[in-house]
Amino acid sequence: MVQRTALVTGANRGIGLAVASGLVEAGLSVVIAARDPAAAAAAARPLGARHVQLDVGDARSIESAVQACGDVDVLVNNAGVLRPGRLLDNPEGFAESLAVMVHGPYLLIRALAPAMVDRGYGRIVNVSSGWGSFVEGIGGPSGYGVAKAALNALTVTVARDLPDTVLVNAMCPGWVATRMGGAEAPRSPEQGADTAVWLSTLPDAGPSGGFFRDRRPIPW
Ligand code: NAP
Repeated sequence: MVQRTALVTGANRGIGLAVASGLVEAGLSVVIAARDPAAAAAAARPLGARHVQLDVGDARSIESAVQACGDVDVLVNNAGVLRPGRLLDNPEGFAESLAVMVHGPYLLIRALAPAMVDRGYGRIVNVSSGWGSFVEGIGGPSGYGVAKAALNALTVTVARDLPDTVLVNAMCPGWVATRMGGAEAPRSPEQGADTAVWLSTLPDAGPSGGFFRDRRPIPW
């Protein structure tokens, strides 16, 4: 059987690290991407994973990370930021939210999807949030909900544009105990990662263009 390669962004800690670990367990070759190279190496070592320096807010960093990775069959756009304040009071937070959670994922998909199409296999998972759902009310501080809603829209659009050999989905991990989620959150990083691992390893007839939590569709 072919061993697939997965690239997970923001994988040095939190949900990204749990996704990377779940994918190693599922038998994939995993590349841990993190903006701090030492943190990437430290996270990769115990998993027997590869690692690459990647700041998803920096187009040049994306370009060199993509070159360093070689073939990538599975892309997990996990890196995220939660900046404080009201949207109109924090323009820097808004810009960073869009750079990390929308433009970076767009550039990574743009760089990696053509080869997935050529090889006839791809899985793209966008780690979103219920705060990016119109039905759930677009929540969170600063630009967080706006960016996650845009990431959801990116998911729908890219899924429509790519052939059905490349499955593109968004997911919400729930409220997870990480640096972002805080210690009082009820879910472990592994529980938060479960749906992303499932979407990363979907069979060929799996869904595309959907939004999931706990492996079930949720409304946009
Ligand atoms: P976390 O522990 O704060 O981890 C965030 C990760 O994103 C870190 O690895 C961080 O790297 C990375 N990151 C931030 N900016 C980056 C950049 N410019 N380039 C590359 N990496 C960058 O948060 P988490 O809870 O695991 O969040 C993971 C994803 O789940 C995010 O997309 C978040 O929005 C989503 N989510 C989380 C929850 C929750 O309750 N925790 C709920 C819904 C959705 P550094 O270590 O370098 O900062």
